[in-house]
Amino acid sequence: MADAHCHMDAGYFPEGAESVMNRAVDAGVVGFVVVGVGRDLTAAQSAVTLARAHPDRVSACVGIHPHDAVTWTERAHEELLRLAAEPEVVAVGEIGLDYHYDHSPRDVQRSVFARLVGLAREVRKPIVVHTRSAADDTLSILEREGARQVGGIIHCFSEDRAFAVRALDLGFDLSFSGIVTFKNAGAVRDVAAWAPLDRVLVETDSPYLAPVPHRGTRCEPGYVVHTARCVAELRGIPVQELCAATLANTERRFAKVFSRGLHALNSAERRDGSG
Ligand SMILES: [Zn+2]
Ligand SMILES: [Zn+2]
Repeated sequence: MADAHCHMDAGYFPEGAESVMNRAVDAGVVGFVVVGVGRDLTAAQSAVTLARAHPDRVSACVGIHPHDAVTWTERAHEELLRLAAEPEVVAVGEIGLDYHYDHSPRDVQRSVFARLVGLAREVRKPIVVHTRSAADDTLSILEREGARQVGGIIHCFSEDRAFAVRALDLGFDLSFSGIVTFKNAGAVRDVAAWAPLDRVLVETDSPYLAPVPHRGTRCEPGYVVHTARCVAELRGIPVQELCAATLANTERRFAKVFSRGLHALNSAERRDGSG
């Protein structure tokens, strides 16, 4: 299977991305969509570097998180545009709106989100959307700014069926995180059971939101197996079927084929002796 959305910043995983990913490979994860966002573009650059080092396993997304919308400048936009055009970058994100934390003023979040939808259209890459407590504004900006032209995913889906219908209609797939394993996430579990199988992805959003039975601990990409198992149970299908479908959906959405071999990730380092 693939982890359709994870953060691998060194600050989250001091033991190094390679060992984290090797544990996930052992658990059956063959692909990692690594998201680089932060107060500046350091994490974005790191995600691209990681994807470059592991072209068979890792793809990168670059963007400006709604939390950091206040850091947006014309200059950062130009730099992001240059990064987003790199071949290792498969999507622009995560971008969107977060009215739960309000780390950036809402009007700033909205204008930066709109500009970044335009950036995604410019580089013709899909969008990874983060939305929290901002459903109507998120959908109307996606609609108004022509996001339909590139599509994308609603990452860490935490809305309801009415939102899902509009998002699917706009060309956005639904990516489920560990939240779906929480018994009190009724609306999210309902959508996971109901959504068309060819529009469903699974992710960890590592290091956040570890699924049951790891809830409350640091999340890592290998835990996506628990989320996959939960979604399969909710849908009443074999977990192998769910894994095959979500891997295919991730690869199609991000126009990327991950290597199926379950070899360790550091073979390139071993080859050149720099490991
Ligand atoms: Zn997010
Ligand atoms: Zn994220």
